[in-house]
Amino acid sequence: MSGRKMLPVLGQREAVAEPVVEEACENEPSGKSSTGGLDRTIVRVGGMDCAGCAATVEKSVARLPGVDRATVNFASGRLDALHGPEVEAGRIEKAVRDAGYSVESAGAVERGSFWKTPRAVSVVVATVFFVLGLALGFSGGPDVLRVGFYVAAIGVGGLPIFRAALAGVRAFNLDMNVLMSLAVVGGAAIGEWAEAASVVVLFAAGNALQVFAIDRTRGAVRALARLTPDTVLLKRGSVEEEVLTEVVRPGDTLIVRPGERFALDGEVVEGATTVDESPITGESVPVEKAVGSEVYSGSLNGGGGVLVRVTATAESSTLQRISRLVEDAQATKAPVERLIDRFSRVYTPVVVGIAAVLAVVPPLAGGDFGTWFYRALALLIIACPCALVISTPVTVVSGIGAASRLGILIKGGEALENAGHLKALAMDKTGTLTEGRPVVSRIIARNDVDEREALRLAAALERRSEHPLAFAILTAARKRLEDGELPEVGGFSSIAGRGAEGTVEGRRYLVGSPRLFRERGSDLTTISDALAAVEEAGETPVILGNEAAGPFAVFGLADAVREDAREAIASLRASGIREIVMLTGDAEAPARRVAEELGISYRAGLLPEQKVAAVEKLVGKYGRAGMVGDGVNDAPAFASASVGFVMGAAGTDVALETADVALMQDDLPKLASAIELSRRAERVLKQNIAVSIAIKGVFVLLAPFGLITLWLAVLTDMGTSLAVTLNGLRLFNRK
Ligand code: ADP
Ligand code: MG
Repeated sequence: MSGRKMLPVLGQREAVAEPVVEEACENEPSGKSSTGGLDRTIVRVGGMDCAGCAATVEKSVARLPGVDRATVNFASGRLDALHGPEVEAGRIEKAVRDAGYSVESAGAVERGSFWKTPRAVSVVVATVFFVLGLALGFSGGPDVLRVGFYVAAIGVGGLPIFRAALAGVRAFNLDMNVLMSLAVVGGAAIGEWAEAASVVVLFAAGNALQVFAIDRTRGAVRALARLTPDTVLLKRGSVEEEVLTEVVRPGDTLIVRPGERFALDGEVVEGATTVDESPITGESVPVEKAVGSEVYSGSLNGGGGVLVRVTATAESSTLQRISRLVEDAQATKAPVERLIDRFSRVYTPVVVGIAAVLAVVPPLAGGDFGTWFYRALALLIIACPCALVISTPVTVVSGIGAASRLGILIKGGEALENAGHLKALAMDKTGTLTEGRPVVSRIIARNDVDEREALRLAAALERRSEHPLAFAILTAARKRLEDGELPEVGGFSSIAGRGAEGTVEGRRYLVGSPRLFRERGSDLTTISDALAAVEEAGETPVILGNEAAGPFAVFGLADAVREDAREAIASLRASGIREIVMLTGDAEAPARRVAEELGISYRAGLLPEQKVAAVEKLVGKYGRAGMVGDGVNDAPAFASASVGFVMGAAGTDVALETADVALMQDDLPKLASAIELSRRAERVLKQNIAVSIAIKGVFVLLAPFGLITLWLAVLTDMGTSLAVTLNGLRLFNRK
């Protein structure tokens, strides 16, 4: 290694182009207008052990002058701050530290052993003191010593809690640390030393374990983006030189040896090899690469050495973009999470209120103060909706992380939740259920027209068009005609879902579907035999015509059904999708052929707006419906679906942008995996929410009757939080 990568260590800054959307967030109104050029700073916050603490960090940062808005996602450990250019990243990081949390450098994945962190050490020491105190209690040792041990346990284990609580109070946020601190201080005040110490020890231990579990998952997801080598072998003329990856510019040529990882996106310019693209696509079966093939950063070169011309900087490489999208997605909230947040904002104050009443009213009515005060303290602990609040974000982070390992990019909690609920799917035909590489299998021209001439004219028009059918006609022309034989086109326009028109050699030509010609008032009887022949074969007809002669040639195009389509449809059905409809703008006969082969229903001859209507109808019928396609066409249909699945997104930016769920590979079985995974996430969400609500509910009811001790309340709280966390992480850790 010749050098170290000099990443900006703390936080990254990027300018925010789009105007900031004002959402309900409890910032103080700062003097800045939100539409101006705001900067965005992202900070990785460490040591957050409760979702309530995320709110504390959020408010602490939002209070800074010049900060417009701060959002902290607990589960992904990320702070996102929008602020005026005068606010420095250092100020924001300081606010985070002042609130009692740490700021992690972007590069810190390799952590030391968990047991060596200050946090773990303090938990262990506090536990030792606590156990000593307990032992003395049982053996009847001197009281002073016993209490001394408890106080030591509270001091050592409680320090981080009290510090965080202070930040919570300053931010007017009744977070878990505040509630626990109140309970500890209250317990100590009424001489319940053992109880107070047990609250501290259990709480600290539970949190440490939880932070440990979540941090590991966060780290594993981030590790993806750091697969790329720090240095590369640059080739300039005949000179080879090892340089830092970040100084390489698009256009540079790199030497990539067998067994090395590609540091940057590029195009092979010399040599051939096989490449394991699993960091991008989730699929480790090697892909053949030859001159002209695209390679992605992060993927692993197989047995051949190649020269690669770089096409993107490290920052804008596919891998970086994907991992940024994954992180952004993990930082979003699922709709159910927003619901829970709202619920907790009411729940906590209400339970704290009940606790206050319990501490004051019964003693006034003659009850024993100590007894009721103790019960009130137990309620304070129960007032924290810890497990409930943690249950969803952990599941979302874990589900999205797990998907990304499979080459499935789920663009947020909402997409995850929606995909888990799908009952119906609309699927595009061309390129989704079929190979998407149609070939011209016949050309039938009217007697007075030369076949080659028809191909020449059609190809001239289609050269400017982007449809797969256009590509097929062009390919056929390239095969059969000489180079340079294709004439120029003037006044070209493409007609969405129908075809294209343009002027060739002084004549206006039209190419496209029978519908297009009918709409233009053409008489199709002159070519009806040709159309019938094409239909008979289940092929897609493309008609060529001009103003003077009308339609004069028909091309039959065949597009094979994907080999794995049957299997994919079967697994979709098995995972609970009740209705699958193929939507296509193609003609009836080829549509029927594909649909029958796959055993699904279909709608043929649809215009783009009719596809939208069809999707809307499905959504209306089932509540939620997905749309699967290549995302390049049919954007409106995607927009009206509850979840848009785009296949083969690795290469195309548009597709990555359009999709709610992007499948990196052009692979139908991955669609079933994506839906299956979302369903599992959905089940875990439900389990987590149900368990945490049930336990809280029971405890709130029992506490006023003195049936809940402080240590039991904390133990159950921590236990439930840990259980829902581990349950959520199961999604990620499952192989
Ligand atoms: P699909 O549902 O198969 O993606 P589209 O809506 O993209 O279909 O197109 C519908 C039909 O319009 C095609 O089957 C074809 O008949 C016709 N068409 C669209 N664009 C072209 C083109 N550039 N050349 C020829 N035919 C076209
Ligand atoms: Mg299409």
